[in-house]
Amino acid sequence: MLKDLQTLVSLCKRRGFIFQSSEIYGGINACYDYGPLGVELKMNIKKVWWDSMVSRTDIEGLDAAILMAPQVWKASGHVDGFSDPMIECKSCKARHRADNLKDPSKCPNCGNSEMSEPRQFNLMFKTFMGPLEETASTVYLRPETAQGIFVNFENVQVSARKKIPFGIAQIGKAFRNEITPGNFTFRTREFEQMEMQYFVKPGTDDEYMEMWKDIRKNFYSELGFNMERFRFHEHGSDELAHYAKGAFDIEYEFPIGWQELEGIHNRTDFDLTQHEKFSGKSLAYFEEASKEKFVPYVIETSAGCDRMILAALCDAYNEENVSSDPAKEDKRVVLKFHPKIAPIKVSVLPLSKKPQLQELAHKITSDLSQNFRVQYDETGSIGKRYRRQDEIGTPLCVTVDFESLEDNSVTVRHRDSMAQDRVEMSKINNYVFEKLNQFGG
Ligand code: ATP
Repeated sequence: MLKDLQTLVSLCKRRGFIFQSSEIYGGINACYDYGPLGVELKMNIKKVWWDSMVSRTDIEGLDAAILMAPQVWKASGHVDGFSDPMIECKSCKARHRADNLKDPSKCPNCGNSEMSEPRQFNLMFKTFMGPLEETASTVYLRPETAQGIFVNFENVQVSARKKIPFGIAQIGKAFRNEITPGNFTFRTREFEQMEMQYFVKPGTDDEYMEMWKDIRKNFYSELGFNMERFRFHEHGSDELAHYAKGAFDIEYEFPIGWQELEGIHNRTDFDLTQHEKFSGKSLAYFEEASKEKFVPYVIETSAGCDRMILAALCDAYNEENVSSDPAKEDKRVVLKFHPKIAPIKVSVLPLSKKPQLQELAHKITSDLSQNFRVQYDETGSIGKRYRRQDEIGTPLCVTVDFESLEDNSVTVRHRDSMAQDRVEMSKINNYVFEKLNQFGG
């Protein structure tokens, strides 16, 4: 199990998962870039989430713009209410979220006890649209993707001819000028959300809330997460957002403790009703069967993509002693990703740099690359190369040795069990396909 985030931060940098943004300029606080392996992991996670949503016949996809009409954020309540209480230390000037401090009369940075009064700090980033930098041209970077879905409710419902209940899913960037970002990618100022709003008939909302709690929990268990590190946290009345009737967080036990990974909220008809008021356009739905007209309630599942990646990295991280001599220690670090999200599915390793082996290994690499993300590696001892693949979570390694030239077979080594199979070269594609699909099932 991963003991601290710092271990992961250095692995992520060393192996090309995640880098500090603008690092050569000293970095910019709370912004991160995904490197070659990180971007594969991210795309895989988005795809698994996307497929889990839009493969359902009752869910459609959407990709709305980041910049929206400023009235949207007035209607949603973000202009007036999307703020956290901020206090400043009068000595070191450090700023903190007052609601997160155990003792708001003492600065956790320098220990000084002279603190400012808390003031509300709006978390939305502002910018200007067009050539004039004036109040009238102020627009916001969206702080959540949900509003893009609400304002398109009717467009999607009509164009896709959906009947209630149905949902709209979206993946996209969101921006929040967090007062105290930190803990690596856990809380950043630019992040991606994977949100789905499910529109239901009022009165059926409690039932669908339960349904989505189950679906979302199963999502993590099917991806091989350790379910002992998952729990639901129900919001008490003091925690509920202004729009919510009920809310559950799916919490994950990170090395920094139990923290929210995803929110499941009953947003009632709040957002659609607000947009009706502000736009003057009716967003009511007419139900043929009952001849009733109503503004739907919304059950939302809102997951942070970057936070899910962080949880996947923490969950996959293992350190194992693989020495055959119990008196000695031979440590391997292995990321036990589910094959669906592993950045590299299979690596091809020629045992030596002999041209015949290289040639054969290149041929296998190009064959497998038709179907899988493959990495070819010929540098260092074979033991070192296995360790390198373990550390980036590659489920299978194909080793080409001298015997391969004679018997047209290769050795396949499995990441988790470290077991090795001899497989005929002509069958390698099917073998890899089968093993990746068998995982965990
Ligand atoms: P908090 O109270 O911790 O600020 P929140 O309850 O406002 O978070 P939501 O608005 O419910 O968060 O956002 C939905 C999801 O988006 C969260 O569960 C989280 O995974 C992700 N998320 C929110 N803020 C950030 C952030 N600053 N950095 C990374 N992910 C975030």
